[in-house]
Amino acid sequence: MAKAVKEKFGKVTMTSGNIRSPQIAQDILERGDADLLAMGRGLIAEPNWVLKVQNGYEHLLRKCISCNIGCADHRISKSKPICCTVNPDLFKESEYRKQRVKNNI
Ligand code: SF4
Repeated sequence: MAKAVKEKFGKVTMTSGNIRSPQIAQDILERGDADLLAMGRGLIAEPNWVLKVQNGYEHLLRKCISCNIGCADHRISKSKPICCTVNPDLFKESEYRKQRVKNNI
């Protein structure tokens, strides 16, 4: 859809939706199907998505499973605070800083 909009209007175009794999993201940009990528749920599941990919830790990505249980359908649409099925740390990151463990990321 982004490609069609880009071709029709010749404007900078952004696309989003279930872009879980860095390779898919790269393919979209390299083909010129869109100029920018947006991530919503993917960043809820893995706030460090870009950092991990950029530093060669793609194998550690915690990928959104599109369940919508902790966000869209069951929380946001009901004006409830979000949580995440695959990221139980969401909004609790600062609590863990007090008990920090050393890792390579
Ligand atoms: S709750 Fe489910 S759909 Fe929402 S971000 Fe987490 S894994 Fe993805």
